This record gives sequence, C-alpha cells and structure tokens, in this order.
Amino acid sequence: MAQRCSLCKEKVGLTFLQKPLGTWVRDRKGKQHLVCQACQRRYSAAELKEKL
Ligand SMILES: [Zn+2]
Repeated sequence: MAQRCSLCKEKVGLTFLQKPLGTWVRDRKGKQHLVCQACQRRYSAAELKEKL
C-alpha cells in the first residue's frame, strides 16, 4: 500500500529499495509523520511541526 504525505495527502513514491521518497517528521507528541519532498521544500522544520 502506498504511503501518503501527512500534509498534502499525495502519494509518496518509493525508491528502488522500497524506502519512501520523503522524510519522517516527529510532531510534538512524538508521533512520526511521513512528509513528501515537496512539502519539505515548502515548509521549514518548525513549520512542519506546527502543521502536523
Ligand atoms: Zn506533501
């Protein structure tokens, strides 16, 4: 099943090693969210934590 970005809900592609082409961001409660590369560029690390 494809994983989706926690912010834009777009599908996050996989590398040939089946790793998501995104990053895991931990919110203030310590829960991890997958964020795609586009959203990483759009928001700073602090902004990501605010939005998750
Ligand atoms: Zn996204």
